[in-house]
Amino acid sequence: MKIVKVDLDKNSYNIFIGGDLKSEIKNFAANEKFSKKAMLITDSNIEKIFADQIVSLLESAGLNVKIFVVPAGETSKSLSQAEKIYTAAIEYGLDRKSAIFALGGGVVGDLAGFIAATYLRGLPFVQIPTSLLAQVDSSVGGKVAVNHQLGKNLIGAFYQPKAVFIDLNFLKTLPEREIKSGLGEIVKYGVISDKNFFDYLNDNADKILTLDHSIMEKIISRSCEIKANVVSHDEKESGLRRILNFGHTMAHSIEEASGYSRYTHGEAVAVGMIGAAFISRELKMIGDEEFKRLENLINKLKMISHVENCDVDHMFKSIFRDKKTINGKISWVLMKSIGEVSINSNVPDEIVKEAFDYIVK
Ligand code: ADP
Ligand code: ZN
Repeated sequence: MKIVKVDLDKNSYNIFIGGDLKSEIKNFAANEKFSKKAMLITDSNIEKIFADQIVSLLESAGLNVKIFVVPAGETSKSLSQAEKIYTAAIEYGLDRKSAIFALGGGVVGDLAGFIAATYLRGLPFVQIPTSLLAQVDSSVGGKVAVNHQLGKNLIGAFYQPKAVFIDLNFLKTLPEREIKSGLGEIVKYGVISDKNFFDYLNDNADKILTLDHSIMEKIISRSCEIKANVVSHDEKESGLRRILNFGHTMAHSIEEASGYSRYTHGEAVAVGMIGAAFISRELKMIGDEEFKRLENLINKLKMISHVENCDVDHMFKSIFRDKKTINGKISWVLMKSIGEVSINSNVPDEIVKEAFDYIVK
């Protein structure tokens, strides 16, 4: 088992990563002095596989757990779903010391975190992420949100969990495409801050694809470490945290252009990283060799490296509507090398369009 500490003064917490975290979860639930009544939020897929075992574990630690199941899928990240959960929380009698446990992927984590941040102005929140994407990204760092009809994650808060428990056994039932989606973010961590990690992914690609336990423990914990380090220097995204957006400007436009359903988030990130690397190469920030190394790793991990049937003009326009575009200026996260990125707000439109032409086949 590995423990990664997220250092945020009095909001600091631990991320536990391992193949069997039952005793860690039980001890934590028993020792935190939570109120007896707790709520576990999960989705309709995960409920069937894992909810019973986690609930009995929490009950063996002395908690009385109310389960709230939302339909699987992004549409559950809504204010109307949140309202149903508030009603259940009031009726059940959750108080300020009651813990909210999120058992699920990014959808459940973001929604449950939003409830935990707002119900009674905030109660203790615990993440038990079950998808690879949630394990290496959304469960770490404290961004919680629901979607608005006009855009994703527009209503939310920064709200840190009390702990994160990443059990590798969850990955066994995760659909292969969701594994690939998580790998997109994992490759991103190598590119933005750790060349050795990038090389490690490259050397172990085959084992990663078989979900080898010890390799997964290593790459998940290194990913969490890199994210934790960035977040502890810049909790509310005023500077450094923007580097986590590598590949995401184009990813968001891919997701939008394809109706948020054809490509998973991680797939869009993989292609978006190739787009950002293309721009970096055109600006002579990296050479062709580094560009190809990223493209090769993405192919080696059997992720997609281009998208189909997306309208390039539409995508180009949509990057200006991104949440992170300020005063019409896009902060591009670009590569200086494998392992280092920098922000550039002056990329010529023609180069951006060429990059879109490259990633859309
Ligand atoms: P994210 O990719 O942000 O984690 P979701 O929360 O929608 O997005 O999770 C992706 C899909 O994978 C959902 O359908 C969810 O129910 C399913 N899922 C999550 N974890 C597991 C798991 N361990 N086993 C099987 N299915 C899972
Ligand atoms: Zn992402």
